Amino acid sequence: MAKFTVNIAPEVCKGCELCISVCPKQVIEVSKSINARGYSPADAVRIEDCVGCTSCALVCPDGAIEIFKEDE
Ligand code: SF4
Ligand code: SF4
Repeated sequence: MAKFTVNIAPEVCKGCELCISVCPKQVIEVSKSINARGYSPADAVRIEDCVGCTSCALVCPDGAIEIFKEDE
């Protein structure tokens, strides 16, 4: 099965959690850290479960997420 990389730019994220709500695999959670703008950014914690649907990247209002398919 294909593997995917989920890159979330922590300094771009504003912690709106939209990506968390649309992910069908619960890959993303709120980070315990706080970024320079005072938000707790989203973090891809179960990256091995990602199915590459790109819903999170499409819904993010700030374009903070990129999905890459890894070479097999
Ligand atoms: S690409 Fe789909 S499965 Fe992967 S983290 Fe984003 S919403 Fe979840
Ligand atoms: S949708 Fe974008 S801005 Fe909102 S929590 Fe997710 S990565 Fe951050």
